[in-house]
Amino acid sequence: MKPSIIFSCSALVASLLLSVPVAARDAAPKAVARTPQAPNRLIFVTVDGVRWQEIFHGADPRIVDDLRRTPMPERIRKDYLSAGKPADALTPFLHELEGKEGLLLGNRDKNYCRRVGNRYWFSYPGYNEMLTGKTDSWANTNDAVVNPDITFLEWVNHMPAYAGKVRAYATWDNFRNILNEKRSQIAVNDPQLALPATVPGGDARTFALALQSIRTEDPSVLFVGFGETDEYAHEGHYDRYLDALHMVDGYIRQLWEAAQSDPRWAGHTTLIVATDHGRGLADFDNESWRRHSSGMDAAGLFHPEDSWPGSDQTWAAFIGPRPVEPTAKSAAQLWPCSTNSQLAATAIEALGLQWSDFNPKISPPLVRFLKPKPQ
Ligand SMILES: [Zn+2]
Ligand SMILES: [Zn+2]
Repeated sequence: MKPSIIFSCSALVASLLLSVPVAARDAAPKAVARTPQAPNRLIFVTVDGVRWQEIFHGADPRIVDDLRRTPMPERIRKDYLSAGKPADALTPFLHELEGKEGLLLGNRDKNYCRRVGNRYWFSYPGYNEMLTGKTDSWANTNDAVVNPDITFLEWVNHMPAYAGKVRAYATWDNFRNILNEKRSQIAVNDPQLALPATVPGGDARTFALALQSIRTEDPSVLFVGFGETDEYAHEGHYDRYLDALHMVDGYIRQLWEAAQSDPRWAGHTTLIVATDHGRGLADFDNESWRRHSSGMDAAGLFHPEDSWPGSDQTWAAFIGPRPVEPTAKSAAQLWPCSTNSQLAATAIEALGLQWSDFNPKISPPLVRFLKPKPQ
């Protein structure tokens, strides 16, 4: 999520915001809501800057063999490359979803293409895209800018059936701005939820808060944003990037299992897992994987020195109380590529709501939720 220097000009952002009327940027969604009597539930998890290559190939042996990036390769080889499929060893929970009528999408080896739709390929624009369903957003910075756009989380939190039932826990502080805490009334990392001092920081803390929220706050919609994968990748620690991803896979499993073992959640909860952008291809060298950005600045100028091909490529996972299938005619569809902007409508449909009530102009859902098979 580290801001690239060329995107960090808050003065430019401020001037852009001032030049565009609020109404033109984001017309207020209709308050009408076909809210269900017994609201369905959603756990929406993001893992910052994780490449589809690690999700579908597992640890890359070329980078594991690079002592600058993996100082103790023996342990990494033993944990992630020694038995069975490397991808299963790295993120076992995500790969189990398909056997449970869920989906793991974005495997380009099988011609399934996913990417970000925005033109910048870094964090704030990535999260704004997936949470608002639009790619024509103003968002072109990672700075602490309060979001003028309305996310689907905010829209849901203002519905009578879901009022005050949306919670958000995140490692990156800037989610306070992305979710526009003040206007949305979604307190990111709710200070009411105290944790023992022994709980460490970072993603471990985010996980502990999210798990405690499921158990004690009983939200209907839980947003969980993990971030250490991106931090370690920027620092060039491939071993820590892999460990952080493996840890998060286990955290997501525990959140899902906590929901499944709770009668308030079991049977009507959907889990969505996504990443805000990919990272550079490792095929050119062993360093591009550390970075992400299209090289496009807020003024539309291209900076080749900050362009990392492949960092627009993403993946996503889904499982719900009903079987899930892609909305594309074929699961193996290389073009047109599905985009992260489709996640907002997908999440809204998972809640049993009409995404066009939120905003008829957003991208349509990425998957559909089927009727259960007759027994
Ligand atoms: Zn980053
Ligand atoms: Zn990011």
